[in-house]
Amino acid sequence: MSDFIDNEDYGFATRAVRAGQVRTHEGEHGEPIFPTSSFVFASAAEAAARFSGEQPGNIYSRFTNPTVRTFEDRLASLEGAERCVATASGMSAITATFIGLLSAGDHIVSSRSIFGTTTILLTSFMAKLGIATTFVDLPDLNAWQAAITPKTKMLFLETPSNPLLDLVDIKALADIAHRKNCLLVVDNCLCTPALQLPLALGADIVIHSATKYIDGQGRCMGGAVCGTNEIVGGGVYGFLRSAGPTMSAFNAWVFLKGLETLELRMKAHCQNAQALAEWLEQQPAVKRVYYPGLKSHPQHELAKLQQSGFGGIVSFELNGGQKEGWKLIDATRMVSITANLGDTKTTITHPGTTTHGRLTPEQKQEAGISDGLIRVAVGLESIEDIKADLARGM
Ligand SMILES: *Cc1c(COP(=O)(O)O)cnc(C)c1O
Repeated sequence: MSDFIDNEDYGFATRAVRAGQVRTHEGEHGEPIFPTSSFVFASAAEAAARFSGEQPGNIYSRFTNPTVRTFEDRLASLEGAERCVATASGMSAITATFIGLLSAGDHIVSSRSIFGTTTILLTSFMAKLGIATTFVDLPDLNAWQAAITPKTKMLFLETPSNPLLDLVDIKALADIAHRKNCLLVVDNCLCTPALQLPLALGADIVIHSATKYIDGQGRCMGGAVCGTNEIVGGGVYGFLRSAGPTMSAFNAWVFLKGLETLELRMKAHCQNAQALAEWLEQQPAVKRVYYPGLKSHPQHELAKLQQSGFGGIVSFELNGGQKEGWKLIDATRMVSITANLGDTKTTITHPGTTTHGRLTPEQKQEAGISDGLIRVAVGLESIEDIKADLARGM
């Protein structure tokens, strides 16, 4: 009943199934859930030693929990990170990264094409704490370089972006960041470590919304921050244990099971998305398809270079506007009208009136969110059924 000894010789799939597990004296095969808020000490002296940090071990589940630790160690192994800390949601992972590592007066340069709530966190709340953000176009390396000031401490991005699937060259941007003593933070939610390893390309921190593909079946909220012991084990963990957005043991267990099938699921998402994107390109009602796996994608070569698959999100622009977009969505009978992504179930959204609905017409135009734009997070149903459902309203 030996524990899995993680080492670099094991392949991704092996580590996804086994890394992080520490068996108890019961010899259980599956990973146990530890639903306990606190942990018991053998003596007053041991309690004192744990609290002072002299002796390692669990104290309280806001700090550490064995099920959560197993998830953290498994995800760290997959991302190639020294350390991972789990959080209650993707947003708390992002918040912990900003607040745990930055101070009033510091400056962030961020991609303009990021998750909407992250934009609000930066513009409404981080700004209030004295941490300003400059937004730039994701692919434009010159714009990133030009936006960095002596106060800049962090560059933040998602690649590919959502919903338009633009990319940035992570390696080139890591060079720019490090020449200026900035940390490069990549929200790797859309690709997951099964398709893209930002740390190996030079990024300092990888963030996840585990709610998406890591769960993979739309059940639990969770997040994670991966990086070095110094950075993630220092400021990020320090903030989390004091502020408290911890992952629950139950959710950690669900995500552990998710990681075990992550690579298989991502391959299937990619396969369905590629087939759907190619089919959409043939449809007369469709003006343009956005998918990095298409030869027509302006960054197809970069996608081939830095990703091992093109992902599960496909966006397309209809010849018509909002009316035609809503008609297509309302004509579907199977796919779910919801903004979530990373689920086995295909979802469809009209970004212009939902995720990006609060933007002004000028902001929408700048962000490339047209009235006829539709985003599909391609699930794992039979591809012919997905196509047939979208064809109904075209
Ligand atoms: C959903 C999402 C988040 C936020 O994660 P939650 O788990 O919903 O808090 C952050 N980044 C990206 C790219 C996302 O898709």
